[in-house]
Amino acid sequence: MENDPINLGPRKTAAKNLAKKLIKDTKISEAPVSLQTIIEHLQSTYTISVQRVNFPTEVSGLLVKCKEVDGEYYTIGFNENHPWCRRRFTIAHEIGHLLFGHVCKKGQKDETDDEKEADAFAGELLIPTILIKKDFGKIKKVPELSKLYRVSAEALTIKLMDARLL
Ligand SMILES: [Zn+2]
Repeated sequence: MENDPINLGPRKTAAKNLAKKLIKDTKISEAPVSLQTIIEHLQSTYTISVQRVNFPTEVSGLLVKCKEVDGEYYTIGFNENHPWCRRRFTIAHEIGHLLFGHVCKKGQKDETDDEKEADAFAGELLIPTILIKKDFGKIKKVPELSKLYRVSAEALTIKLMDARLL
């Protein structure tokens, strides 16, 4: 895994590379990225379950790690009241936390390095650069593309700018 040139601040490059590796390992070659496929792949290494939770609106999701004598168990909870594209982003974001070994710190707001890393991971996982470059060449419309990728128009726009396509 490559590190960002300056080892300060969020490891966005490393996060994206981790997502790229998962896309490659699962042989995902078209949108929408199947989170089911990603999770099943990870389940060969980790014990993960994904659960819908009736969280208050301001909570997108969380990752719970339980240590038992026979191993570690992860649960990803997502807010069942949020729209589907947001839930997908949340699940991908929590997978990012899991793979980076981020620990839960209470009372932190969204702008921490951990959150930025998890977001960079989720953005690359759900909108792989290699796929969006190809698809954006054919479909130049953000609403159509966000439907195809099953992500929000906002997440897609961020990605298009990040990949210097916009
Ligand atoms: Zn987070």
